[in-house]
Amino acid sequence: MVAECAAPCQCAGAGVTFAAMTTVHIIGAGLAGLASAVRLVGAKRRVALYEAAPHAGGRCRSFYEPALDCRIDNGNHLMLGANHALMGYLDAIGARDRLSAAPEAIFPYVELPSGKRWTLRPNGGRLPWWLLVPSRRVPDSRLVDYFSALNLKAAAAHATVADVFDTDTTFFKRFWEPLMVAVLNTEVEAASASLMWPVVDLTFGRGAEACRAFVARDGLSASLIDPALEWLAARGCVPRFGARLRSIRFHGARAAELDFGAERIALEAGDGVVLAVPPPRAVELLPGLTAPEETRAIVNAHYRLDRAPALPGGSPLLGIIGGTAQWIFLRGDVVSVTVSAADAMLDDPADDIAALLWADVAEALDLAPHPLPRHRIVKERRATFAQTPAQVARRPGARTDYVNLVLAGDWIDTGLPATIEGAVKSGDTAAELMR
Ligand SMILES: Cc1cc2nc3c(=O)[nH]c(=O)nc-3n(C[C@H](O)[C@H](O)[C@H](O)COP(=O)(O)OP(=O)(O)OC[C@H]3O[C@@H](n4cnc5c(N)ncnc54)[C@H](O)[C@@H]3O)c2cc1C
Repeated sequence: MVAECAAPCQCAGAGVTFAAMTTVHIIGAGLAGLASAVRLVGAKRRVALYEAAPHAGGRCRSFYEPALDCRIDNGNHLMLGANHALMGYLDAIGARDRLSAAPEAIFPYVELPSGKRWTLRPNGGRLPWWLLVPSRRVPDSRLVDYFSALNLKAAAAHATVADVFDTDTTFFKRFWEPLMVAVLNTEVEAASASLMWPVVDLTFGRGAEACRAFVARDGLSASLIDPALEWLAARGCVPRFGARLRSIRFHGARAAELDFGAERIALEAGDGVVLAVPPPRAVELLPGLTAPEETRAIVNAHYRLDRAPALPGGSPLLGIIGGTAQWIFLRGDVVSVTVSAADAMLDDPADDIAALLWADVAEALDLAPHPLPRHRIVKERRATFAQTPAQVARRPGARTDYVNLVLAGDWIDTGLPATIEGAVKSGDTAAELMR
């Protein structure tokens, strides 16, 4: 059952260390588990990787959609130049070129009620002179509006975004709200203010390159997941799919046995476990673990058009203010729409959602409102944990009470929101603790 890395075996006669002869069992082949596997196999550790689903990628994956006759992603994923852990992961597996970058740091927006359009254009370097240039910033904004970012830095751990901003201002609705709802996947009345600060600091605080948008060139699986699987397979590490960890037997301060139902795997001295599963599964497997409990949904609508639309400056995305749609992403002739913190929409029929969002898309991209193009709605009910102060306080660290078991996943305390960057960073940390 165990899929192992061949590399340690090949060099076993050449003075290999004790650690290299033992196995790290990684549970979950989402980005956190894959990042951990890549780091450990790269460090010549023997790795066994288990995934309950028939595919890798977890919440970040692509699939063939017959209604559109093409592969689509479970949801639009925006990555940024500031995502250093992600870029390190892609460099390790030789897949940085599988991302496509916006030509520069540009973020076009349209405000539907007013028809106003503008493009944010942060400048290079750390001195943010773009804030002095009205054509590069939000219409009718003042320099002082942007310095309200410091409210996030000063925010108490229990403060929500709505506690530290006046959410009724036009500037908040045009600038902060779309950004924060997208990053935190939580409505601003409930979202943690302090969790947003590192994002603002690491992007707008660092200049244009850090703000540059990246998207998966050929889809999430082709860009972020398949290259890792190929890289691992080339080194003898093939994940075991359909392998759901059912329980862990503990002996004193150690995990002693992994129970996959059909098979039990005894852990040898020196073996380790990286548990890279979502919080509800982690809590089942590790009784007593404190972890976030609430979640927020993301709804994505994918439309296949007759021709590929384009956005100003070649941007892959467009922000929508004042609509139901929040962000539009373009990939060829597929237009995909994101609605974050979309729990209120979960029970709506897919066709109603498709029609509602298409009205926004047609207006934003100046396309015909009728007929409704071929579409597919994807509802990710538990897209991320609810990033409220109370739930953030429940994030555990990577270490557990068990000396040979560590946690990974976007929900553990990485200091970052639940994002790809957080997931990869958590995987790197887990690998570091296992080396
Ligand atoms: C619709 C949507 C849009 C998003 N947009 C963005 C975005 O724009 N930018 C961004 O940075 N992030 C975005 N995210 C968040 C990003 O996808 C996640 O942060 C990241 O994928 C989490 O990876 P993970 O490995 O921590 O968890 P998961 O992807 O949940 O991986 C956990 C894995 O463990 C497996 N598993 C569970 N139980 C077991 C078990 N008992 N045994 C074995 N395996 C098990 C699961 O099947 C899964 O594959 C988005 C998420 C969604 C859903």
